[in-house]
Amino acid sequence: MTRLGICGHQYDEEQTVSTLCPVCEEKLFGTLPVLLGSRTEVSLAMNIRSELLREVALMMVENEDLHRNMRISQLIDKRKAKWWVEHRKYSVQEIMVALL
Ligand SMILES: [Zn+2]
Repeated sequence: MTRLGICGHQYDEEQTVSTLCPVCEEKLFGTLPVLLGSRTEVSLAMNIRSELLREVALMMVENEDLHRNMRISQLIDKRKAKWWVEHRKYSVQEIMVALL
């Protein structure tokens, strides 16, 4: 099934986490690490992470300058499911501050 990523590129694969096309997603986030924690925590955290990355991706598409201000790699490095669960109510801006 052909999809249109929020980056404006069409792609012909499974859904990506951020709803960018796979190429742009890889460029922006690299490979997402497997999360660590209990099964319940991990599945919850994966949803939280996907939602947040979608938001980040959307912000990037709208304003490329944001890229240099964002601590994307620090965010992606968060492997503990618990961290994502604890930050589930945070906005993108709050998360970036939390990474300082
Ligand atoms: Zn793309």
